[in-house]
Amino acid sequence: MKKNLNFYKALLDNLYDGVYFMDLDRRILYWNRAAERITGYARSEVEGTHCWDNILMHVDMDGKKLCQDACPAVKTMQGGVPCEAEVFLHHKKGYRVPVRVRITPIHDDNGSVVGGLEVFSDNSEKIASLSMIEELKEKVFQDPLTSLPNRRFLERFITSRLDEMHRYNWGFGLIFIDIDHFKDINDRFGHDVGDDALKMVAGSLRHSSRSFDTVGRWGGEEFVAAVVNVDADSLRRIAERYRIMIENSLLDADGKSIKLTVSLGATIARDNDTILSIVKRADNLMYLSKQAGRNCITLG
Ligand code: GH3
Ligand code: MG
Ligand code: MG
Repeated sequence: MKKNLNFYKALLDNLYDGVYFMDLDRRILYWNRAAERITGYARSEVEGTHCWDNILMHVDMDGKKLCQDACPAVKTMQGGVPCEAEVFLHHKKGYRVPVRVRITPIHDDNGSVVGGLEVFSDNSEKIASLSMIEELKEKVFQDPLTSLPNRRFLERFITSRLDEMHRYNWGFGLIFIDIDHFKDINDRFGHDVGDDALKMVAGSLRHSSRSFDTVGRWGGEEFVAAVVNVDADSLRRIAERYRIMIENSLLDADGKSIKLTVSLGATIARDNDTILSIVKRADNLMYLSKQAGRNCITLG
């Protein structure tokens, strides 16, 4: 059964996964509808550009930029074998989105590699976190600017975790996150761009959280994450992931690239903690990160 090209395009457009095709120069020649949804970039903005033209800017879990030396697509096209990787791509709104990518080499009739097909899907944690937001239908618990849980929700959530700790001995950790020099962003680019930058940070926090953790906006340019089932080491790792993903987020405001960093304080809940004491401790630890030069984590 011979089908024309439009048939295949329609087929790819109806997939839930993002799909793009690139030639050997890594120029993107096809971009499907799910790729538009997952990245925020329309087909017209992407087709014809190179995948390293400041569009997707894949980074790995440690924030290492993959485009130059470690591009999985280059590996696939050179080696002629498919590969898979977990990466974080850049969403048009600036934040980082975790995706699992699968890249397959495409051969011509003579068997030479002519390009690569990359298929990428939202990872499940992201979908889970979105469905959590869906559940936050009661707007009283949602911050209207970032759509994250608000302080009222966080206070209830932390209180419940403290109750559980006292009753069943289930521990948890708290991370206090404060944007560095945020006033400068407002002063230099205006309040509206400042709002977009807050949304970008919120997006990166949401997308780098595990589905059962809760991260919300505490107020202003401050966020709090309550992290269950952790020891100090994994709490540090999660805080480090937040830090790296925010450091690697990039907002485009009228052609100007805006980057920012955060300072974090992380602590494991203690037996005698109250909501006041644990939040205060995390906030004080965050402040130590400010004093240490910002863009870092203090665990205590
Ligand atoms: P530091 O690194 O010490 O944290 O410096 P900073 O500038 O981030 O801290 P500071 O507390 O001086 O300033 C916080 C700024 O955040 C001031 C305030 O105008 C801004 N801000 C708070 N809430 C919002 C908001 O909803 N939208 C915007 N655009 N700005 C906000
Ligand atoms: Mg602050
Ligand atoms: Mg600040």
